[in-house]
Amino acid sequence: MDLAANIAKVQSSLESASEGRYPVPKLICVTKTHPAQDILPLLPLGMTEIGENRVQEIREKAPILNPEKTDPRFRIHLIGRLQTNKVKYIMHDVCLIQSLDRMELALEINRQAEKAEKVMPCLVQVSPAGEPQKGGIAPEALPAFLREVAQLPGISVRGLMAVMPDLGPCPALEQLFQNMRVLFEHVRDEAIPGIQMEELSMGMSGDYLYAARHGATMVRVGSAIFGPRA
Ligand SMILES: *Cc1c(COP(=O)(O)O)cnc(C)c1O
Repeated sequence: MDLAANIAKVQSSLESASEGRYPVPKLICVTKTHPAQDILPLLPLGMTEIGENRVQEIREKAPILNPEKTDPRFRIHLIGRLQTNKVKYIMHDVCLIQSLDRMELALEINRQAEKAEKVMPCLVQVSPAGEPQKGGIAPEALPAFLREVAQLPGISVRGLMAVMPDLGPCPALEQLFQNMRVLFEHVRDEAIPGIQMEELSMGMSGDYLYAARHGATMVRVGSAIFGPRA
């Protein structure tokens, strides 16, 4: 597995796909299922923002990835569905929760943040194709949800995240990326007090080109860098 070559390839594809129309999105390397020892080689490559989707895995790997709690080497993003009873385990290991998708979860993150005397940065997960079973707030419910979360002092909303349906490359999929960008700009222009709309996290190994073309600020890429997961 040539990590350096794979990363260079993804980076250059992102650069050409964003076409100078949008800034090149930041590459978040999705390291789920890979042991900490296999993740450490990302450090000298400058890939320090990583995505993990399971709390248990984060708890196991964080002490190896970030031995100095006060000076972490990696910034870990939580990108998977988060159970409310597990929020308390990740408050100190995660720099961004990308999967805030319901009020019950927001209330628990807020509660744990206040306990830890910190503010947790979050992205609100939106269901791009109206598939709420896949997680995410329906687009039409988003403004009201954001206004409610804005009242919680322990949460700082930084933007939106979407997991696209697995359609394979096709115009319908590209349209969903475009719709997400439109939605992002729409809520950004609403300028809801207490809400920052800076990040739009969308795009994975199979579709990061569409994401870059339609104004993602972050893409979450795993298998195109690490190879297929077992
Ligand atoms: C696994 C995962 C990714 C990365 O998927 P790849 O297809 O391996 O790039 C991105 N986002 C989420 C939410 C994931 O669970």
